[in-house]
Amino acid sequence: MILRLVAFGHGEVPLSKPVELRAVDATATPGVQMPRSEFRKIVDTLIDGVIIIDSQGTIQRANNAVEGILGYREDELLGKNVNVLMSGDDREHHNRYLAHFKHSDGSTVMGRGREVEAKHKDGTSVPLEIAVTPAEISGQTMFVGMLRDITERREYEARIKTNEKIMRAVNQALGNVISDGLSTLEVFDGALADLLSVTDSAYGFIGEILHSNDLPYLKTHAITNIAWNHETRKFYRENIARGLEFTNLDTLFGVTIRSGQRLIANDPMQDHRRGGLPKGHPPLKSYMGLPIYSGYKFLGMAGIANRKGGYDDELAQQIKPLLNALGTLIAAHQNNTSRIKAEEKLFRTQQQLKEMATNDPVTGIANRYMVVQELEMLFERSQNGENLTLLFVDVDHFKQVNDSHGHDVGDQVLKHIADTISQTLRPTDTLGRYGGEEFLVGLPGCGPQHASMIAERIRTTIDENPFYLEDGTELRLSASIGIAGSHQGWESLGALIKASDTAMYEAKSKGRNCVA
Ligand code: GH3
Ligand code: MG
Ligand code: MG
Repeated sequence: MILRLVAFGHGEVPLSKPVELRAVDATATPGVQMPRSEFRKIVDTLIDGVIIIDSQGTIQRANNAVEGILGYREDELLGKNVNVLMSGDDREHHNRYLAHFKHSDGSTVMGRGREVEAKHKDGTSVPLEIAVTPAEISGQTMFVGMLRDITERREYEARIKTNEKIMRAVNQALGNVISDGLSTLEVFDGALADLLSVTDSAYGFIGEILHSNDLPYLKTHAITNIAWNHETRKFYRENIARGLEFTNLDTLFGVTIRSGQRLIANDPMQDHRRGGLPKGHPPLKSYMGLPIYSGYKFLGMAGIANRKGGYDDELAQQIKPLLNALGTLIAAHQNNTSRIKAEEKLFRTQQQLKEMATNDPVTGIANRYMVVQELEMLFERSQNGENLTLLFVDVDHFKQVNDSHGHDVGDQVLKHIADTISQTLRPTDTLGRYGGEEFLVGLPGCGPQHASMIAERIRTTIDENPFYLEDGTELRLSASIGIAGSHQGWESLGALIKASDTAMYEAKSKGRNCVA
């Protein structure tokens, strides 16, 4: 009699190569060296389980290893259908298997290594690799099944798979640090999705630890949307881009923020450190808070929740490379933020400097430097035929304003005059403060007659718009205005300004509050 036992390979070794063991009945076959009892001993020392069933599926034999794998002693199995060892799907499959075998020569279905889920005596499921081979025993067709517990192999494979996922996530995160095409939101969202996937978690967040008045708080860069009603959905929508801020640290995540340490809570609802969840929040079944460092700098944390079977230190160790990558991400984000802040500050400073260099702080209009610059441009254009007329406006008896009401009122009056003049001008005209109480107006495209009208309008507007002191006292003002134009053929802007200044003195000598 020959039992064909299939050799199980470890991992990649082909499983289907049959090994022939001669199992011989010493009493029945003359000249045989090994008695049946010896053969039984050998079968019982195998680490693989061996089960022999008849063509009905009834268990005829089981070796010692079966108890270690599935929890049953041989005597508990004898006479039972092999179905008791199978989980639902496999049971179905097996019935069909036996039925099919009866109608075939068996060569296609037997002898192959196959992975199945078996049912342990305690009800748990055990992953097995099985190989079945038919045998003629005492004139009956029997099936010899060999079973190997592959729980460890499965776990090992799962760990390798997780490690591959972690490496991919790390590459992704670090790649995102280098390419600046993605927004912070996208980068952290991607990293959170990877973290959840790698740890089989249902939801979580990644956040940065910031300080306000020396107190730490959490600002999320990515958080799973677990909004459960209209109100929380609206809150999520409106705040997600800016990041949610959590200042109450009497919570499970607060433990990590305050200590910089990992926290595992596999019975979080009973944990005394928990802060309580808002009404409607999805149940928290397990939780792990992970600090995020960049070097020795404690920069942020990640919180993940509801992993089937809870969290453990082994998982935390395994995902360390991913957390380090998150540390790099947050550090890069902070560098980026401080660079942007520095750029903004530089821009504001430059704006201020420009303002200071070109604007008169008392009146808010162009200062002497700026108005001369602008007039230079207009003067150049006047050399190509476009008229430029200048008005030199000097406030009359301004010294008296200072003397009677103080320098501050004098400043306010200067601003009042500047505003009054600019009201009368076109957008293309130029106005600037040339000296103490002297203003220059450039009128491009304006001939002498038109310019006289504008000068007159400025004069009357100043005359008709007194300044009111705080106590309501009316302060009547007037100005003398000199006109000079490019049509007179001045060789430079300086000469043109001088001519307008001279004309202004002419107006003064004619009695002030007039145009010359
Ligand atoms: P006139 O009619 O002949 O032009 O007499 P005036 O008093 O206006 O002319 P004057 O040149 O004698 O005086 C100008 C005054 O303007 C003297 C100066 O103290 C004052 N002043 C110059 N710059 C400022 C300023 O920025 N603020 C104030 N409040 N006063 C100024
Ligand atoms: Mg003056
Ligand atoms: Mg004056």
